[in-house]
Amino acid sequence: MSTPEQAGRPGAPDAPTTPGWRPLHAGKVRQLYTAHDDPSLLLLVASDRISAFDHVLATPIPDKGALLTALSLWWFEQLEDWGLVRHHVVGAGPEHGVPRQVAGRAMVVRRLDMLPVECIARGYLTGSGLAEYRATGSLAGAELPPGLQDGDQLRAPLFTPTTKAAVGLHDEPVNEAGVAALVGAERGAQLREVTVQLYARAAAVTAERGVLLADTKVEFGLDPDGDPDDPASLVLGDELLTPDSSRFWPADAWRPGRAQPSFDKQYVRDWLTSPASGWSRASSEPPPLLPEEVVERTRDRYVEAFERITGRRWH
Ligand code: ATP
Ligand code: MG
Repeated sequence: MSTPEQAGRPGAPDAPTTPGWRPLHAGKVRQLYTAHDDPSLLLLVASDRISAFDHVLATPIPDKGALLTALSLWWFEQLEDWGLVRHHVVGAGPEHGVPRQVAGRAMVVRRLDMLPVECIARGYLTGSGLAEYRATGSLAGAELPPGLQDGDQLRAPLFTPTTKAAVGLHDEPVNEAGVAALVGAERGAQLREVTVQLYARAAAVTAERGVLLADTKVEFGLDPDGDPDDPASLVLGDELLTPDSSRFWPADAWRPGRAQPSFDKQYVRDWLTSPASGWSRASSEPPPLLPEEVVERTRDRYVEAFERITGRRWH
């Protein structure tokens, strides 16, 4: 179990053995390895850990890492038909060098020079976007009509980038000039364009399957062999359109004016905030272990998200 304090150091205590790969970085939920024999490759491993209310819980959700990896890979495949941007995936099989210890929940990717911007697109108003709107009446520089509620759809998707904060700190919203200062004006404009288009394509796909894509976060890097000033050097990295990077809402339960039921974590949140858990969000204690029933139902939700979005059966 990795606590947020340990995250960010190479090799979390529960880092799986990965012959041929050396631990490089441990996030809260995923780990990154570098290849012994090829510095241009990385191994991205997704764990079964789940976070809620800013805590990484001590109880894993079986298969979550595999489900999110499979979903991410499916989206990268769709992206190839969209003509928007290249991606970093090399493959996820043993032939690509994925060790059997992490098979199914890992992918080999090309190492990029990551850009220091979290690229977020929002089609609906909620979370930190809603908080900004309530405080200022606008969102990422766009004036919004008065009276919007939690969960309302925006007239057009908005690009609401943030900085990539160091471990333990919160990402901060950054405006157009701020993005330009970080990556240059032209690259910044490209990030906006590609992120919003990617959101729109993906939202159209999920909408057909009864799932609203409220917002998503993507991360880009530059091809280390490319010209950093060339638009074509841009490559999409990280995970893609998973429940950990995006808000998916069941369309039939969408009712603006309240927090929308979350596709994946609703049972976890409901239970943690119920008297049964004996825990409160205000508590300085870490959340308790999850009961088996909550784990099972949460796993079922991840499976359902995967199956609805991809149209494939989970084995
Ligand atoms: P958090 O747990 O808050 O997300 P984190 O972002 O440090 O923390 P992860 O998301 O698990 O943890 O880490 C994945 C890291 O890998 C990110 O820093 C991401 O920018 C980086 N990354 C993703 N794809 C690539 C790539 N192709 N090349 C280089 N770095 C990459
Ligand atoms: Mg991350």
